[in-house]
Amino acid sequence: CGIVGVVGNAQATEILLTGLEKLEYRGYDSAGIYVQANQGVDHLRKSVGKIANLRQQITAEDQGTCGIGHTRWATHGKATQANAHPHYSQDRRFYLVHNGVLTNYTQLRQKYLKQVNFVSDTDTEVAVQLVAYLVDQEHLTTFAAFKKMVQLVEGSYAFALIDQQNPNRIFIAKNKSPLLVGLGKDCNLISSDAMALLDQTQEFLEIKDGEIGIIKAQKVQLQDVQGQEVTRESYQVKMDP
Ligand code: GLU
Repeated sequence: CGIVGVVGNAQATEILLTGLEKLEYRGYDSAGIYVQANQGVDHLRKSVGKIANLRQQITAEDQGTCGIGHTRWATHGKATQANAHPHYSQDRRFYLVHNGVLTNYTQLRQKYLKQVNFVSDTDTEVAVQLVAYLVDQEHLTTFAAFKKMVQLVEGSYAFALIDQQNPNRIFIAKNKSPLLVGLGKDCNLISSDAMALLDQTQEFLEIKDGEIGIIKAQKVQLQDVQGQEVTRESYQVKMDP
């Protein structure tokens, strides 16, 4: 239902939690965050119910400069902790949040992922397991695998993916679900809703359907469906946070 992400800010955990709280008004049944660890420690926290429940699970060690968060409105699989996002690949290298509905996830699972142990009942988990499969089996770079996954899935999506082995960047893609980039000072953000980011920035970049990109602290790279680089003017949102 809602997505928040940040790269290049030491307050990543708090920015994600505050952002998710701002999205609470949209309704959700569970929530989670993944903050990239500097020393290989996993900062994946999920909970059913309110963001307050998620906050209770956060420990002092759950800090980093890059992360993604999600509020879920279940479409495939019950509202459980295992089904809450972020979802991750079997090797725990890739972490992904998703808004929307993937219509061909059963076929993709049959075709590519028969050997994979799934830990959730969601359509979303297929997307992240597929990225790992394409990196491992087809030896693609993370961006190429992410792009191929996006071409293979059908349905609606806003995706944000983190690769533990390719730190300090968030891979994004959008089709028929909202997603935008917030341009910060020495940091960049993403969200499904500008409201979640107004504490951090009032300058935004639109993402159009079919576009895919890489968000880093100092740089936003976007491509259209044909793989052509997209350059776009940012716009200001004037509102009290
Ligand atoms: N279809 C996904 C799920 O059920 C995402 C739902 C959402 O947009 O929150 O997990």
